[in-house]
Amino acid sequence: MFIFKKVSDLQRWLQRQNSPVGFVPTMGALHEGHLELVRMAKSDGCVVVTSIFVNPTQFNNPKDLEKYPRTPEKDAALLLTAQCDALFLPSVDEVYPTGQDVSVNFDFKQLDKVMEGEFRPGHFKGMATVVHRLLDIVRPHQLYMGQKDYQQLCIVRDMIRQHNIPTQLVMCPTIRETDGLAMSSRNVRLSPEMRTAAPVIYSTLKWAETALKNGESASNIAITAIQKLTTAGLQPEYFEVVDGVTLLPVENWSTSNFIVACTAAFAGDVRLIDNVVLRSNQSRNTL
Ligand code: AMP
Repeated sequence: MFIFKKVSDLQRWLQRQNSPVGFVPTMGALHEGHLELVRMAKSDGCVVVTSIFVNPTQFNNPKDLEKYPRTPEKDAALLLTAQCDALFLPSVDEVYPTGQDVSVNFDFKQLDKVMEGEFRPGHFKGMATVVHRLLDIVRPHQLYMGQKDYQQLCIVRDMIRQHNIPTQLVMCPTIRETDGLAMSSRNVRLSPEMRTAAPVIYSTLKWAETALKNGESASNIAITAIQKLTTAGLQPEYFEVVDGVTLLPVENWSTSNFIVACTAAFAGDVRLIDNVVLRSNQSRNTL
């Protein structure tokens, strides 16, 4: 596996590749969820580039940025096992060079205002800016992202369409621990007590699926779900049942044929997000 720190070195290497390029952007502290994206790109026949860049502009909370786990050597070893072809490990100056304006105007309508957008102001602008910049550097044929960050996927899909970027977005299913907790770089920061409590997030999402199918209204489901999370010792920020394309609230099973339940909750001082697609007409994972 090649490791590049400079845009120019990565681009020189990319020019020599003959297969389609699959790109997996990450913030590092890699786990099986990230590796699955690499494996998926590999099994699609791509030359795989993974980036590790803890993007300062998408952290609305400076403490969260400071505490974000950083394990570059371990990450490189894991990427090798997943047969990643190149690791791009740029500095902040390389991604945001002085004197070069990499800012882009986005209009995501409601997509970046709801849920995460409400609780993490500025997060999606920072995320979209860095993804746009990285796509401009790597110019991949396929971009692999996880369902775990569902709202992020919807925004990137919108950005790709708005800016006519010639990249296909591929969604990978959420990889979970055996007790259902979605794998996340933040999980290592959970206290033993909170690690025990955290799987309630997934069980509540699965409960919501059954309740909605059984005719319960989405607004009642949200109220009960918040109670379930709170009773288990978490501090939920939101629990919403939304349309999978517009991210606007859905009231019942028949209102939409693409329904996703999304939630964010603090487990101690660790903020966790998760979602489950409750109903989908999407037969493929290509968005
Ligand atoms: P991050 O490093 O958290 O920015 O995540 C990098 C990519 O990995 C994003 O596309 C995430 O959606 C994806 N990802 C993170 N956790 C998981 C998971 N448990 N399963 C699948 N994909 C994931």
